[in-house]
Amino acid sequence: MSNVMFYCVKCHKRATKRHKCNPLSYISITSDMRCVVDRLVDDLGFKVYSAVHYIENVDRSFLHKIELEIEFNDDYSETLLQSMPTGWNWYKFDVRDGDILLSGLRYNEDYLWTGDGTVTDRVNKIIADFMEYLGTRDPQAFRAVLTLHYS
Ligand SMILES: [Zn+2]
Repeated sequence: MSNVMFYCVKCHKRATKRHKCNPLSYISITSDMRCVVDRLVDDLGFKVYSAVHYIENVDRSFLHKIELEIEFNDDYSETLLQSMPTGWNWYKFDVRDGDILLSGLRYNEDYLWTGDGTVTDRVNKIIADFMEYLGTRDPQAFRAVLTLHYS
């Protein structure tokens, strides 16, 4: 598993012990996911709770399970992001013993390493493709819909 750190979405900085913002603006991320968080939060207006990625080597073989997971701090409708790149899906989860339902985005891939590049290269490509997809969404339209339905 990659290193998870706290990231302040207000200052766009790693939140260390000395960071003085309201902890509500801190989210857990792996550093490679930072660009995705900035796009989702700053440009599109989503409330993100965490954004991490995992790479798991299966039985010391060339097979790797790659997972990227973005948890939102709201129960967003799947219609907000449609026709995402292959491998990306919406999911729902609950917190506080089922009292609160939230939504998230998850990417799963069984990646067979063939000697071409590294597994990290593959993760960076998945992130780049997702960034390109998010770049095709209209920030103004998004902010309008999110403010209307989710604030
Ligand atoms: Zn801050």
